[in-house]
Formats: sequence, C-alpha cells, structure tokens
Amino acid sequence: MEVIPIAPRGFCKGVFNAIRLAKKTALENPQVKITVLGQLVHNRYVSEALKLLNIDTLDEPHASRIELLSKIKDGIVIFTAHGVSSSIREEALRRNLKIVDATCDDVWNTHALIKSAQNEGQTLFYIGKAGHPETQGIMDSFSEIYLIERTEDVPDIGKHHKIFVTNQTTMSKNDIEHIIHAIIKQYPQAHIANEICAATRLRQQAVERIPDADALIVVGDPRSNNTQMLVKIATQHGIANVHRIESIEQLDTALLKKNMRIAVTSGASTPAKLTRQVIDYLNDYDFDHPAPLPRVDITTLLDE
Ligand code: SF4
Repeated sequence: MEVIPIAPRGFCKGVFNAIRLAKKTALENPQVKITVLGQLVHNRYVSEALKLLNIDTLDEPHASRIELLSKIKDGIVIFTAHGVSSSIREEALRRNLKIVDATCDDVWNTHALIKSAQNEGQTLFYIGKAGHPETQGIMDSFSEIYLIERTEDVPDIGKHHKIFVTNQTTMSKNDIEHIIHAIIKQYPQAHIANEICAATRLRQQAVERIPDADALIVVGDPRSNNTQMLVKIATQHGIANVHRIESIEQLDTALLKKNMRIAVTSGASTPAKLTRQVIDYLNDYDFDHPAPLPRVDITTLLDE
C-alpha cells in the first residue's frame, strides 16, 4: 500500500490564530469564565481540548449567535474565526462582556468589501451556505443582501442595477464558478469579488492534482465546510473512494488493500496531529497483523 500525504493540509492561518488567541486568553485570565460563541473552529476535538483549558464552547447547531449570546452571563466571550455581525458585537458590549475577537482576517476583508460596495449603492449578492456562521454573520450585518446558494436563487431585480457579488470564504471553487456564470449571464454588468480564501483554494487545488489515487481519506469534522468541499471536489475529480473521518478512531480498515494508492488530506480546521496519526497508522499497516486503531490524545492536541 502506498500512502500519499497531500500538502497543504491542516490548520490555516485563521484557525491557527484563533486557537493561539484562545490559549493566550486562558493563560492570562485563569480566574475568569471564558466562553466561545459557537465552535471556535469546526472541529469537535478542538472544542474538547479547549475545555481542558477551561474554555467553554457554547454551541447549539440550530441556535443563532444572538440566542447563544443571551446565555452568556459574564466573563469573556470569544468570537469565532467565522466572524459575527456588528449587532452581536454591540450586544456583547452592552452586557459588559469582555470581547476577544478571533475573526479571521480574510472574513474581515469580505465584510469590508461588502460595506464599501453598499456605500457605493450597489446591490449585494452573497454566495454562501445558509446557517453557516460566516454566512450568518454577513447576512445579519447587512440589511439588503441576497443570499444565493444555488443558481435558482439568483433574483430577478431588473437590468439596471449595479451589482456586487462575493462569497463565503470556504466554498468550493466549482460551485462558485457555476453560480457566477449564472449571475453574469443575467447581469453582465455585475462586479465579482471571488473571496475563496487562499487556504481553501490551495487545499482544493492540491486535491485536484492527486495523481491516480485509488482512495482519498479526508480528515475533518462533518460541520467543517472546507472539509466537505474537499470531499466534493475529490469526488467530482473522479477519485473512486473518498472517505471523510474525524480521526483515526473512525478509520474503516476494511477499505485498505495491499496494492492500493491511498491519499490523505484534511480540512483547514483539523489539528495536524489527527492527520499525522492517520498517515502514520497507514504507513505502518501490516496486512498480516493489523494493529488496533489508536485513540486520540486530546491533552496534547493543541501543542504547537
Ligand atoms: S479557512 Fe480561510 S477564511 Fe476560514 S479561517 Fe482559514 S484562512 Fe480564514
């Protein structure tokens, strides 16, 4: 069996910074209650590791950020890498919570672009996934903005508007292109700002360049959009067996074959140690005497 580790993989700069900021906050405020508003990054092992540092994660998949915020009574609130709306910021300040903001610079940039287009009087189209915290932060920040998830969502607003189009940073480039084509067909004058971040784009391109793999393992959380997009792109690219697992604990060894070429990558919110554990296990795999699957060690997961 040949194991092909795909690069780049693992934490992007936004995730790395968010985790470093959370750890620093815990170190400097040992007596203060610290709560993350939603998952700091979309990985449940990271949330469990943060809990060991006395950082709580307040996360209910169907609750809005404002509903979650209403449950934080005191202490420090950490805003996640996905960003929040200005109304969440104002409400946290009004309630005298101390804010630590881990919003990724790339998400800030998208907010700034939209604000500038809005100030110029342009009509705003945003390609994103309803319910994703990044999209939620954008939709709550701007009053008149059209959310477009599929080509059918492109609204009919007449031909004479100036239109500004941008997107969630972790979308699949294939999906974006598809929708952008539909928008330009209907509104040739539309100004497009493709905001797929470099980390997402590079990971997607690397998956498209995988040479003749029989299978691909994507290590990442089911709620991580960029993880899901890697699975989707690999499947569209023609890799026959694509498996997403959260960690080595979910690896199905029945899929392993002696002569196969198996590639491994991970989403941008997956700790490097989780992916390394999968790669090491596969490299050491003995088909005659397979070792039991190891467990994940949360206690050292966030060590740099
Ligand atoms: S995936 Fe991109 S936008 Fe999201 S945190 Fe990482 S660098 Fe920032």
